Amino acid sequence: MTEKTELIGLSKTELEAEIARIGEKPFRAKQVWHWLYHQGAVDFSQMSNLSKDLRQKLAENFTVTRPKIVAEQVSADKTHKWLLEFSDGQRVETVYIPEEDRGTVCISTQVGCAVGCTFCHTGSQKITRNLTAAEIVSQFMVARDAYNEWPTPTDEIRYLSNIVVMGMGEPLHNVENTFKALKILSDGEGIAISRRKITLSTSGIVPHIPEVASELGCRLAISLHGSNNEIRSRIMPINKKYPIEEIMKACQEFQKRAANCRYITFEYLLLDGLNDSLENARELVELMKKYKIDAKFNLIPFNPWPGCDYRPSSRNRAFAFSKELQKFGFAAPIRVARGQDILAACGQLKSKKQEDKAGVK
Ligand code: SAH
Ligand code: SF4
Repeated sequence: MTEKTELIGLSKTELEAEIARIGEKPFRAKQVWHWLYHQGAVDFSQMSNLSKDLRQKLAENFTVTRPKIVAEQVSADKTHKWLLEFSDGQRVETVYIPEEDRGTVCISTQVGCAVGCTFCHTGSQKITRNLTAAEIVSQFMVARDAYNEWPTPTDEIRYLSNIVVMGMGEPLHNVENTFKALKILSDGEGIAISRRKITLSTSGIVPHIPEVASELGCRLAISLHGSNNEIRSRIMPINKKYPIEEIMKACQEFQKRAANCRYITFEYLLLDGLNDSLENARELVELMKKYKIDAKFNLIPFNPWPGCDYRPSSRNRAFAFSKELQKFGFAAPIRVARGQDILAACGQLKSKKQEDKAGVK
């Protein structure tokens, strides 16, 4: 018998082709899509408006799979973290961050990361492989299962209202699968997370930045972390390939292509004595002015991890940095680290389990 096809992660067109392959009419693909992504069905037997024969036929040809939940933790501030395992045993983490007026699911796109930023724990794990579109989409579906948010709520009040592609990996090193997954997640006849509520974060893989606007139409965040090439190259080796000026030009192109995009978010990790002077803040202002970028800064307190020598900036320095940017009209909130007691914060994902494996206490 031929191997069954996994339905999660197929584009609508691909699903239609699969349904046609088993000799069914196109409207059946619509129904199946609805069951998968609107109702959250994990079993063909749940698809109650399909005949028993058809349900059986589907089960004979296809699968619907969720990754295995290997571990999950909820922190004191209600941040929820899942360690998920795929069929080949590879693992990633997914995090849900509830806030007062919204809830954000942070999803991963790769196992490890090839960019190798010196401050990032994922970057120290090297790249193992890209996630498939199914693996990216199903991370969000696991979170929805947990909060029982099926069928897709029609109102705007959802626990899981936003998506950030800020987990493990560099999404623009896995463009095809990431874009495919985000198109599925934003499809109005399924999970229906509006593109305006999805943010893709990148370390600055220049050639693909404008496509985030034209192909996806979601929000863009750039991990900048350095105000000049000297500093940035030191902490983000990718800067030698794609220096700041190239990133700025790609952002200009993004702005041109993005209909009603109000601003681009620049993430800026504050590292004590390294990139957090007032002069650095002014360099950022100059950059944004020179390239006419509508920018918002997200100032991120550095999360230390074992084996990494950087220190977070003091509160005073962080505050002064933020004030300096604000003086020139830029929003520059200092991000509150969430889920610290369960290591759910940026750049720490999957670190504890690996240390456990290695016997580190
Ligand atoms: N690869 C993409 C998306 C994942 S990283 C990118 O780099 O944008 C998500 C965010 O976490 C990035 O802004 C990254 O710089 C930040 N981050 C990485 N390590 C961190 C650490 N130790 N402390 C705080 N933030 C960190
Ligand atoms: Fe990769 Fe992003 Fe970490 Fe850099 S910060 S190593 S790009 S995951």
